[in-house]
Amino acid sequence: MSWRERFPGVSEAEWRDWRWQHRHALRTPQALARVVDLTPSEERGLAQTAATFRLGVTPYYASLMDARHPFCPVRMQAIPVADEVSCCEGDLRDPLGEDGQRPVRAVVHRYPDRVLFLVTDTCSVYCRHCTRRRITGGEEGPFDRAAAEEGIAYVRARREVRDVLVSGGDPLVLGDDRLGWLLGELRAVPHVQILRLATRAPVTCPMRIDDALARRLRSVKPLFVVTHFNHPKECTPEAQEACERLVDHGVPVENQTVLLRRVNSAARIIADLNHRLLSWRVRPYYLHQGDLAAGTGHLRTPLACGIDILEALRGHTSGLAVPHLAVDLPGGGGKVTIQPEYVLPEAPGSHRGAGSGGTWFRNYVGKPYHYPDPPETDCSCPYDEIFYAGKEGRPQPGA
Ligand SMILES: *Cc1c(COP(=O)(O)O)cnc(C)c1O
Ligand code: SF4
Repeated sequence: MSWRERFPGVSEAEWRDWRWQHRHALRTPQALARVVDLTPSEERGLAQTAATFRLGVTPYYASLMDARHPFCPVRMQAIPVADEVSCCEGDLRDPLGEDGQRPVRAVVHRYPDRVLFLVTDTCSVYCRHCTRRRITGGEEGPFDRAAAEEGIAYVRARREVRDVLVSGGDPLVLGDDRLGWLLGELRAVPHVQILRLATRAPVTCPMRIDDALARRLRSVKPLFVVTHFNHPKECTPEAQEACERLVDHGVPVENQTVLLRRVNSAARIIADLNHRLLSWRVRPYYLHQGDLAAGTGHLRTPLACGIDILEALRGHTSGLAVPHLAVDLPGGGGKVTIQPEYVLPEAPGSHRGAGSGGTWFRNYVGKPYHYPDPPETDCSCPYDEIFYAGKEGRPQPGA
């Protein structure tokens, strides 16, 4: 069904206006019931999560839903079900321990050389798997200009910060002027080398990405947009136009997928998604293992699921389509990446006892190969002293 049939009476101009999309977001069970046949589980989820997390779906994102099938990947990301109410053992309010690493309200400073910069607590669609739902649920209240100024002052004062990830919430709920001011202030900090803007707008409200915005983002280059496609169903002509507009304006686009049980927890879905994204020049970056955010347990996969997906991708398709599988360690340990084990613990049968040294691998289809040790092991780089002489080095982690 096209959006015109689902939202009769809406003009083309209204539909393409991102502010109209935000103003007309579906925020009640009644509004959703007009678009899809709600299941009893969704009805219970909607009733019981009203007090714990926000509900909001742009008409655009709602128009992608399968009205009849409750396992529709778009529905599962945007409509709560009864399981969302039951807390799993080990679920956490602040799964990544961010609140202990926030020197000021707008900044999460976990790693030595980069920070996460929170600019808003709102989004155009509230994802049921949101890891930062204590913030996007409205518990903390909005981020005002004073919070942003305090964050900018922090970045300015910390010379080790060379990478700032602007996030939230979704920064693209802000208007161009407010966002432009913020990015301009961060760009003006001499030690900030790169900016990243984390947004789901290309997926949930692609009309937000117009030429004016793309030009603004280009003007603060180098800035990378990091978006969040989870399923090929989200790869619409509108989403393509949004991504290609950014790339055509010289703004690289990366994608982070959250691995979600029964939504995208199969290799062929991830491969298909990443192939489509690459054809738009969007580079798959992370595949995230689900965080322990309260109410998301039913969407989490066992670790083996992600590893099996990588096993099915690596070697079988373009390396560009293979993301890093990341586990963000509960409590604030940071991200670690995992992958299938390709190093063999010992030489395979027929080669046992045939000389020592080197490493045995299995390749992507399981055949054994040997890589010998090099003749020398000194890996220091003598030219370093000349190349870096008198130049200011970047502080090293832990230095
Ligand atoms: C994920 C994250 C980053 C960025 O990590 P990269 O591996 O550089 O993409 C930075 N800060 C925080 C707090 C994060 O969660
Ligand atoms: S867009 Fe991002 S911050 Fe907003 S609800 Fe979805 S996952 Fe959370």
